[in-house]
Amino acid sequence: MQSNLKRLTVKLRIAVVQLNPQIGHIGETIARVDSLVSRIGNYKPDIVVFPEFALSGYNFRSRSHIQQHLSSSQQGPAWDLCQQISKCLSCVTVMGYPEDPADGTNHIYNSVIVVNSEGQLAFNYRKSFLYDTDEQWGCSENPLGFQTFDLPFANRAIDADGLVHDVTIKSAVGICMDLSPYKFEAPFQSFEFSSFHAENLTELILFPMAWLNSASVTKKSENQEAGKAAIEKSLKSLGFPPSGSQGDFQWDVELGDGTCFKDVPKGAESGTPVDSALTQNFSHPAVPDNANVDYWILRFMPFLAFKERFRWFSSQLLGPILNKLKDVRTSYMGGTTRRPWIFENRSVVAVMCNRSGVEDGTTVYAGSSSIFKFNGRYGADEIDLDSSNRSVEILGSLGKGYEGVLLRDVEFEVLK
Ligand code: GLN
Repeated sequence: MQSNLKRLTVKLRIAVVQLNPQIGHIGETIARVDSLVSRIGNYKPDIVVFPEFALSGYNFRSRSHIQQHLSSSQQGPAWDLCQQISKCLSCVTVMGYPEDPADGTNHIYNSVIVVNSEGQLAFNYRKSFLYDTDEQWGCSENPLGFQTFDLPFANRAIDADGLVHDVTIKSAVGICMDLSPYKFEAPFQSFEFSSFHAENLTELILFPMAWLNSASVTKKSENQEAGKAAIEKSLKSLGFPPSGSQGDFQWDVELGDGTCFKDVPKGAESGTPVDSALTQNFSHPAVPDNANVDYWILRFMPFLAFKERFRWFSSQLLGPILNKLKDVRTSYMGGTTRRPWIFENRSVVAVMCNRSGVEDGTTVYAGSSSIFKFNGRYGADEIDLDSSNRSVEILGSLGKGYEGVLLRDVEFEVLK
């Protein structure tokens, strides 16, 4: 059956915008987006991705607190801005916003719009797995669960003879907690989001987030006062205001035509690797939180090469597990009873767009927005489920504490 399919190389230019939006400061956030977008435009990206709740800020405490920020998918500031960016740059724009579909049900959602290059709505995705903060303001779960949709791109695929084709990419949106175990209660190894997309042959994953750094003080934290004091001290030592850095942009651009520059705000130490203990606290805002990047990679386990799967396969270990799961899953940790690794020889690009900054003096976001390519290779060799695994290529990561832009050309293979 596969012989009828053509292997195409898809080339996309992707821009990830890391932002620090604060509740009640939407005008300022839009102004910073405008200044970033005017510069991004020079590079003619195919896709521009923004974080979860990119303009509104994230830490809403109640339904009345979020009320004035709600809008339907084709109304409100996120829609207006995405339309403007899409038409002006002729690109796909992806942005998180608080949704009230006004459908008479009273249900409200944590959603992401995908706007095509003509400025039309290509898809509206609602977060499926909710975080405590979403529950605080009465968010409903996506009743449809994880989803895929078709995203067409003109002249972005090349066949073996060098001929250029239009291509439709099987795409998906995930929002932050979607990558975690359901309510943090499901078994870690269920890998719900990544198993779904490995089984559904998804090719491009767009992932807006408001993911927390481990310095955050949450309801579950012990010694909250000490935690808050530590955050305040870190911010002071960096000379940052209480809500973290805004408007000092980090730029990380590496393109196929040789364009390459990495600008960090004045005084910041740039992206040289430091030991991992240092990446987790807030002392190096231009450096990614590598522990966090490793965690995201781990949550994509079904896409990662893993030697053990071949032993599971030859010892027929998965049969009983998959039999138990048969109503929800056809694979387990990327393996099936028919094939050791369902993702072998495929590729998927995951665009992880996180926010930065601090809300309420307690919630520190992890920044570290990254682009990953899972290449479907080395299946029989790899053991470690982290950035050292050769089946994941980290195409770039921003630092944890600045706003900024990551721009990359990505190339991946699809069968059409
Ligand atoms: N798992 C995420 C975290 O711990 C959830 C945050 C979110 O959904 N915004 O940061």
